[in-house]
Amino acid sequence: MGLVTLHKARGVPVKQPVCAICVDRTRGKTRLVKLTYGVAVQLCEGHASDEFLTRRGGRDVVVTLMRIWQANGCLTSARHKALDAHLARLAGPPPRAKQGSYAWPGVRQAAERLFARGVPQPWSPGGSPAPSSATPNHPATAPSPAGTDRRWLTTGTAAALPP
Ligand SMILES: [Zn+2]
Repeated sequence: MGLVTLHKARGVPVKQPVCAICVDRTRGKTRLVKLTYGVAVQLCEGHASDEFLTRRGGRDVVVTLMRIWQANGCLTSARHKALDAHLARLAGPPPRAKQGSYAWPGVRQAAERLFARGVPQPWSPGGSPAPSSATPNHPATAPSPAGTDRRWLTTGTAAALPP
C-alpha cells in the first residue's frame, strides 16, 4: 500500500498551500480562513464553506482541526481558544435573564403550592384566599394587583384551587 505523500502527488495543486483537512486529496483552490486569537488555517472551498464551518454547531470543524493540530504538535493555547470561541459563537448568546418571579422558579413553585392549598395570599383583602373561594364581600372579580400575582391567578394556580 502506498503511503500518502505530497511529493509529486497527482492532482494536488502545487502553487498554493494544501487544504489543512484534505491534505493529499486537496482539489481546487484553497484560501486562508481566519479564526480568532490570530489563528488562521488554509482550507479548500468545501471546508471553508459556511455549511461546513457551522455544521453540528461547529463541532465538525473544531474536532477535525483539533486532531490535525494535535498530530502536528501545534495545538497551542491560542488554537485551543480559537476553537472554543468558534463553538461559543455558534452556540449563540446566553439565555436571556428571566423577568420577575420567573427568575426564581423554586420560590414561585413553592408559592403556587401554598396558594393552591388555600394559604392566604398577601395581597388579598383581610388575608382571604384566592378569588375562586371568595365570599360576597370579596368577589372574585375584585381587582387584583397587576403583574406576576395576576398571572399566577390566571394561570395554573387559580385552576388548581377547589371550587
Ligand atoms: Zn478540504
